[in-house]
Amino acid sequence: MTRPIGYITNPLVRHSAERDPEALANAAKDPMSALVLLAGDHPILQAGEPGTGLLPISALGRLPSHKEQVFLGTLQDRPVIATLASPETAELFQDDPAYTVTDLRSIAVRGLVPAEELGILAMAKSMLDWHNRHRFCANCGAPTEAAQAGFRRDCAACGAQHFPRTDPVVIMLVTRGDKCLMGRQPRFPEKMYSCLAGFLEPGETIEDAVRRETFEEAGVRVGGIRYMASQPWPFPSNIMIGCHAEAISEEINFDREELEDARWFTKDEVRQMLEGTHEHFAAPSPIAIANHLIREWMKG
Ligand SMILES: [Zn+2]
Repeated sequence: MTRPIGYITNPLVRHSAERDPEALANAAKDPMSALVLLAGDHPILQAGEPGTGLLPISALGRLPSHKEQVFLGTLQDRPVIATLASPETAELFQDDPAYTVTDLRSIAVRGLVPAEELGILAMAKSMLDWHNRHRFCANCGAPTEAAQAGFRRDCAACGAQHFPRTDPVVIMLVTRGDKCLMGRQPRFPEKMYSCLAGFLEPGETIEDAVRRETFEEAGVRVGGIRYMASQPWPFPSNIMIGCHAEAISEEINFDREELEDARWFTKDEVRQMLEGTHEHFAAPSPIAIANHLIREWMKG
C-alpha cells in the first residue's frame, strides 16, 4: 500500500475567526484539552502502537515553565493547544518509557503517530518555530508579544502586527517522453535522487519558478507545467508545490554548487528505484511529495 504524503492530513477545525485572548485561556483551563508539546523543535509523544502527539493537558504540570502557546483549533470539539518548552525539557521525558522524544521527520518516516496527527504536529512546529524566531519587531526592533491566540505578534512600540509566515517552494518532476529528470544533492541519503526544487521568489508565478529553477539547476528548458498537489513541510515552514513539467530540451548542464549529479532516468530504472531493488539509485522517501510525483508519472 502507498503511504499518504506526510503532513498533508490535518483534521483540526481552525476557528480562525474566533482567535481572541479568551480562546487560548479557555482552552488552557479545559481539562479535556489536548496538548502538543515541543521541547525546542522535538515533539514529545506518548509511546504506543501507534503513539500519539496529543497529550493530556495535565502533562503541562510536569514542566517547570514553558514559552509561547497557540490555540490550534478543535478536534471533535476537543481544544488543541501547542506549547513551546526549552530544548532541555526533553530530558524530563526521554528516560520515561511512556514517552518518545524525536524529530518530526523521524516521526513521519517511522509512522510513530497516526497519519492524521502529522498535519497537526507540522502546524504546531511551524507556529512555535515562528514565535521562537520572531521575538522582536522587524519594523522597529522592540520586543513583540503573542496575540490572537498565538496567530499574531504585536509590537506595542510602533503598533505593527506580524503574522506567521509560510514559504512556498516549487518541486517538479521534469519529464520527456518516458524519461524523467532527477538530481542528487550532497546531503541526500546514499543513492537517493529526487525531483528538482527551489524557493518561489517575490513577483514570480509558480510556472516561472518551475522553469527558472529547472534551468538554473539542470540547464534543461521546460514548456508545459501541471500542478499536482501541495505538502506542508515544517522544516521550518515551507509549502511544497508539486508539479509535473514537460522538458523541451534534453541536454543536462547541472549546477555543481547545488547538485552532485543530475540525470535522466527511464521508467524501468524508476520502477526499480521505487521498489528499492536498483543497484545504484534510490527514490525519495514515501513521506515526501517527490515520491508521489514520481508514482503519478509512472501510472501514465
Ligand atoms: Zn515595532
